[in-house]
Formats: sequence, structure tokens, C-alpha cells
Amino acid sequence: MSIFTKIAEGEIPSYKCAENEEFYAFLDINPLVKGHTLVIPRREVDYIFDMEDDELARFQVFAKKVAVAIKSAFPCVKVGQAVLGLEVPHAHIHLVPMQSEKDMNFSNPKLQLSSEEMAAIADKIYKEFAK
Ligand code: 5GP
Repeated sequence: MSIFTKIAEGEIPSYKCAENEEFYAFLDINPLVKGHTLVIPRREVDYIFDMEDDELARFQVFAKKVAVAIKSAFPCVKVGQAVLGLEVPHAHIHLVPMQSEKDMNFSNPKLQLSSEEMAAIADKIYKEFAK
């Protein structure tokens, strides 16, 4: 079982931002900026481009709804999307609220946020998603 499956199933705690029966969104534990979110399918698949077309389309539409919620919770120029998958072998989309292109540089130092701050960020996104 991948670490992200354990997160989606609640075996490992996460800061939940959104969910439905097929997909789950939670804060990246090492955020580039406040609101940096990961979106995953509950189904275990490593490489995003191994997903069937219809599942991939639903995944992207779910990520879009999460991005809209992030932008409402954390005003930004745009929410950037990236897929790397070099560290965790479970497909995931990074959603990053950007003030500039520099915010999407994955080599940047990561923010150190307290658990209270992380919980408050996730709660804000979750409430926007539920609207
Ligand atoms: P990638 O696979 O896209 O190269 O990187 C994996 C991303 O997942 C990284 O940004 C990393 O901070 C994040 N990540 C890795 N393990 C965990 C975890 O246990 N919990 C959370 N919330 N994020 C994680």
C-alpha cells in the first residue's frame, strides 16, 4: 500500500482539503507556499499517464474544483499545476497558489509551518470547496 493510499484511507494523518468517493486532496507536508495541495486518486496507480482517459478526465475536473477553492481561500495570480511523481509512486497533482513563476520552483526551500497553521490552511480550503 502506498503512503498516499494510507493517507486517503486515514491510516496516516493528513490535512484534508477536499474529497469525493474517487479522489482526495490534502496539504503537501513540505509546502512551497501556503495552500500547496496534493490531489490523488484513491485507486493506486503510480504514473498519471497510465490512467485511463475517463479516470484521468475526472481526476483533472476534481483538481480544477480544488484549484478554484484554493484561489478563493488564498488569493493569488493563478493556481499552478504540476506533476512530478519522482518521490512518491502514487499519482498526484500539485496545486500551488502562485504570485509569480518563482513559486513553482520545486527546488525552493520549503515553508516550515506549525500544525495549527497547516490545519487552518486546510480548513479554509475545505470550506471553500464545500460551498
Ligand atoms: P513528487 O513525488 O511529486 O516528486 O513529490 C512528492 C511530494 O509529496 C513532495 O512535495 C512531498 O513534500 C510530499 N509528501 C511526501 N510524503 C508526504 C506525506 O507523508 N504527507 C504529505 N502531506 N505530503 C508528503
